[in-house]
Amino acid sequence: MTYYSYSRLGTFEDCPLKYKFNYLDKIKRDEESIEAFLGSRFHETMEKLYRDLRYRLCSLEELISYYEDLWSKNYHKDILIVRRERTVDDYRNLGRRCIEDYYKRYYPFNRGRTLAIEKRVIVDINGDRKYLIQGYIDRIDQLADGTYEIHDYKTSGSLPEQTYFDRDRQLALYQIGIQNIWKDVKKVNLIWHYVAFDKEMSSVRSPEELETLKKDTVVLINKIENTEEFLPKESALCSWCPYPDLCPRQKHNYKTEKLLVNEYLNDDGVKLVNTFASFDLKKKEYKEKIKEIDKELEKLKEAVIKYAVKEGIEVIMGSDHKLKISEKQKVSILGKKGSSERKALEEILRRLNKIEEVSTLDTFALERIIKDREWDDDILEKIKDFYTFKKVKSVSLSKKK
Ligand code: SF4
Repeated sequence: MTYYSYSRLGTFEDCPLKYKFNYLDKIKRDEESIEAFLGSRFHETMEKLYRDLRYRLCSLEELISYYEDLWSKNYHKDILIVRRERTVDDYRNLGRRCIEDYYKRYYPFNRGRTLAIEKRVIVDINGDRKYLIQGYIDRIDQLADGTYEIHDYKTSGSLPEQTYFDRDRQLALYQIGIQNIWKDVKKVNLIWHYVAFDKEMSSVRSPEELETLKKDTVVLINKIENTEEFLPKESALCSWCPYPDLCPRQKHNYKTEKLLVNEYLNDDGVKLVNTFASFDLKKKEYKEKIKEIDKELEKLKEAVIKYAVKEGIEVIMGSDHKLKISEKQKVSILGKKGSSERKALEEILRRLNKIEEVSTLDTFALERIIKDREWDDDILEKIKDFYTFKKVKSVSLSKKK
């Protein structure tokens, strides 16, 4: 039985290969991004604040000192700072400021009663234990009017738009989870604390939206479980990926970026790319030259025809060559493919049963249809002996970012 989580589903969507490394091959890495480290320390500090709140409200100074202590005790050598313009202290100070802002915003913390902190929820989507989602809710509160609130802390450095919250899967799944735990869960507010911006964002879900979410989640889990080839999907998130040494898209960069200049230039891969790039540049230069030569030839052709007409000749002699000017009748069919003229012509030919004589199979369109399975399976089955699948490697050159 596989327990899925919000981050597990998200990882598959972000990059199937990263998903495979992490969840199927279970390759563990010591590296931790500074953003994740900061997030963990903030969450732990909030946990203390709300656990203590059952008995007493701890002071801001106490909380900051708790955070500082956590930071120092947990900081380790494998913390990764991707944004080179930032320092460890930038992040540490950001965490402190988030705590101060949060404390001031919610002081004296009497908006609702906290029912649970870091609450584990299991969502059995279809009730048959086939599709299970597991998650930990940062905090669950209940207001005086009985409304439940699912709170989530985010230390992220970017604030999403409202549409993101209205479509977010994580807290909506948690809502389904707590509705199965407590019978009196009727009205639920989903709340995100974007603490780096001192912002509280919220959203609600209708029963219909929760049903749609369940269906979409089942579709996604089925897709994951039926995936045979976990392909890499590059994005800005690659900078935070813990598997650059294993990923075919990043492996060579990972291997070479730490080399000294002369070692780098002697790497076989680097040499190949540099040679390829220089030939590609030559090809572009030649293409430009050929264009210019074609233009000149076109001008000369016009001059030759003019001369031949003027002299009433069809052959013009040169030193080693001669030019022959000939004329033939050319048929030009009106309109472009798909134009109204072409459609009208095709219709006439079809009516006259002549279309077969002038049409050929569009193999490009057929390849696309087969690849994207645009036709029904039974149709594809009938033509299956007429095509094969083969993997073709291609090479494309682009500038390094
Ligand atoms: S480096 Fe990028 S493409 Fe490669 S596995 Fe990681 S996220 Fe995927």
